[in-house]
Amino acid sequence: MSQPHTDNLESKCAGFVTDALERLGINDEMRHVLISPFREIKLELPMRMDDGSLRLFHGFRVQHNHSRGPFKGGLRYHPDVDLDHFRALASAMTWKCALADIPFGGGKGGINCDPRGMSRVERETLTKQFTERISPIIGPDRDVMAPDMGTGPHEMAWIFEEYSQDYGHEPAIVTGKPVELGGSAGRLAATGRGVALAARWAAETHDIDLKRARVAIQGFGNVARNAARLLAEDGASVVAVSGKPGGLLDQDGLDISALHSATEDREHPPSVTELDVEAERISNDDLLKLDVDILIPAAISDVINEDNAGDLRAKLIVEGANLPTTSEGAAVLEERGIPVVPDLLANAGGVIVSYLEWVQNRQRYRWDASRVKDELNAFLKTAWKTVLKRARDENISYRQSAYATAVERVRDAIELRGF
Ligand code: NAD
Repeated sequence: MSQPHTDNLESKCAGFVTDALERLGINDEMRHVLISPFREIKLELPMRMDDGSLRLFHGFRVQHNHSRGPFKGGLRYHPDVDLDHFRALASAMTWKCALADIPFGGGKGGINCDPRGMSRVERETLTKQFTERISPIIGPDRDVMAPDMGTGPHEMAWIFEEYSQDYGHEPAIVTGKPVELGGSAGRLAATGRGVALAARWAAETHDIDLKRARVAIQGFGNVARNAARLLAEDGASVVAVSGKPGGLLDQDGLDISALHSATEDREHPPSVTELDVEAERISNDDLLKLDVDILIPAAISDVINEDNAGDLRAKLIVEGANLPTTSEGAAVLEERGIPVVPDLLANAGGVIVSYLEWVQNRQRYRWDASRVKDELNAFLKTAWKTVLKRARDENISYRQSAYATAVERVRDAIELRGF
């Protein structure tokens, strides 16, 4: 039997899944079932551009595992994407949904285009063409897409429209829609809210008083700025935030609400270092090494690695970004006894509220913001308690506990359903 892509996938999952497979004593056959994608699609998307030229794009969708529910995952528009890229991202969604205990599997896809160089009409045409071609394998009970890098509520609205042309009015075909079309209250801030909640619970567990806590956050995009705002509201002192060119540092605490206002409602918000703010300038590398109570990497992947993990001085790390820590970096942090709330748990708020959007759409009903917040809190708290208990019972890290729990749940679902 050919077993495609598993080596590659295991390496992309940075060893965390492999560790869980070994911890659970999963045999080789089940390993391959768990790791290899259920289905992979690559589509040709020829398109006439506004200037009359013909361009050939490629659309991709990887559906990793649906034993716990329909595939769920983002749609990414970026010139460099390929199937390999999406294999790793789709499997990460399987584990994230399983840990959050929401009834979805994992998927991911996108188009190899640069949306910044395209007109709105071109983006709409391409999105609708992709939807039309992929429609037999998506659906509210098959595969539910959501915004990712390079896509947003507009793309979701166009997918909803195109799909509904053939299948009838079906807002649950995508999440992350504009609120006017059935998007959920609270979706935009959900990931940052989840990060702030995870930081709060982990701080309590590790005897860090949030009201006196000093927090450094890498990034000031959607996840970072919402986490920063909520932690500041909790009384924490956010001493550093950053953008790609570097960050701002104020040992007495930055004015997060002012930074928030200065970067709000802008399609292309300025980097924080471009703002007229009285604060020290700091590099992203130095930000990670600040002597703080809580460090939140919430920008890009691989920033904590074997080169710098030994120099970090934070008492607690909460991962807002996807895979901000390499497996080598994670091993160093584990050895040093620095607790890390892994991305699988800490940034699951977004997909949890996506699930709540899907539920509301299927009920043809709308919940208010406070109900959405309560539901998000309940799902995430249950996941945190589960991870904490297993970590304590088995004397393992939060990351090892999270992956073991997620992989075990998917394995159990596969075995219960049979082959
Ligand atoms: P975003 O595009 O809104 O913000 C990204 C931030 O990272 C910006 O502040 C940008 O200036 C900064 N940045 C970019 N390159 C950098 C670099 N080289 N060094 C330091 N900072 C850099 O993105 P986002 O939605 O906030 O997502 C951030 C991370 O969280 C990503 O890893 C994303 O995959 C992950 N994530 C996001 C969501 C969500 O709902 N938005 C959900 C789960 C995970």
